[in-house]
Amino acid sequence: MNIPITNHAPIRTWFGVGGGADRLAMPRDQQELEACVRLDPALRVLGAGANLLVDDDGVAELVVSLESPAFQGVEWGPELVRVGAGADLPKLIVEAVRRGRAGLEGLGGIPATLGGALVMNAGGAFGQIADCVTRVYGVSREGTSVTIERSQIDFGYRHSGLNELILTGAELRLPPGDPVALRDRLKEVMAYKKSSQPMADNSAGCCFKNPTLAHSVKDATGDIGGPGQRVSAGMLIDRAGLKGLAVRGASVSPRHANFLVTAPGAKARDVIELIELITRRVHDAFGVTLQPEVVIWRRS
Ligand SMILES: Cc1cc2nc3c(=O)[nH]c(=O)nc-3n(C[C@H](O)[C@H](O)[C@H](O)COP(=O)(O)OP(=O)(O)OC[C@H]3O[C@@H](n4cnc5c(N)ncnc54)[C@H](O)[C@@H]3O)c2cc1C
Repeated sequence: MNIPITNHAPIRTWFGVGGGADRLAMPRDQQELEACVRLDPALRVLGAGANLLVDDDGVAELVVSLESPAFQGVEWGPELVRVGAGADLPKLIVEAVRRGRAGLEGLGGIPATLGGALVMNAGGAFGQIADCVTRVYGVSREGTSVTIERSQIDFGYRHSGLNELILTGAELRLPPGDPVALRDRLKEVMAYKKSSQPMADNSAGCCFKNPTLAHSVKDATGDIGGPGQRVSAGMLIDRAGLKGLAVRGASVSPRHANFLVTAPGAKARDVIELIELITRRVHDAFGVTLQPEVVIWRRS
């Protein structure tokens, strides 16, 4: 089988930094994807690269991109919609709202492929992708097709437990809604994001997960939270005085402390060192260990 594979290919990410893939494959259909798995069962899947940091040395495993039309299809049923994992989430949201289909409008402003959104359970204050998933389709590391029902998926906060699969698509429940109300809601969500996040800068969105506190945390200005409470990682980074902190070309955004942004010429190493520095400083300030939300690929 003649799968399109490029050697020494760059990996496009929203950070705009980092190394490439020794081999990048763009399978044209399910059969070619299964052949990719046989070629390298440890392959990595690239989505839109919006939550990804690739170390400067790049990666040796086969990287698979599902950008061919076979993985981008959208089939609109009266209630259920079948979507390929390579489909662009922002375009899908706009199309759903245009058709008066409810369920995705709260995910406005999240750059992703459907596959990346499912693995990360992308979302925030206005909803998460898990809310409309009825089943997902994928290929196992043994190269077999699998279907997983919603009830078997361990969705949680920025978690799906689907990481080992190569997701090829999903069925979403998007019931009919009022198109005008849906459009207004999407506009509202986008306006909120534009006002609070540096969306035009090179970043991966929120870099750290919001931690659940194991103990009470306070600073000079008052209580931050108690045991069992999930608090904003951005607020902790801000209250530790780290807005504007930089390691060479990577810095903490002055607009949103959980967004690490890169300047032209920055290296992935700068972002990795900044992540380590923030983790240490927040731990020193509050005794809380932040966990990265961004996925980091390193040469193994
Ligand atoms: C400006 C900006 C704003 C953001 N705002 C939000 C937000 O509000 N909420 C939020 O949750 N996130 C946000 N993010 C982060 C990002 O948009 C999400 O995490 C998104 O789900 C990443 O999808 P992706 O397709 O880009 O995945 P990638 O970054 O390409 O990959 C992320 C992980 O998913 C895996 N993956 C991707 N596709 C597949 C597949 N088909 N099968 C198996 N594994 C796969 C990759 O291997 C990797 O481990 C933001 C990012 C940016 C840049």
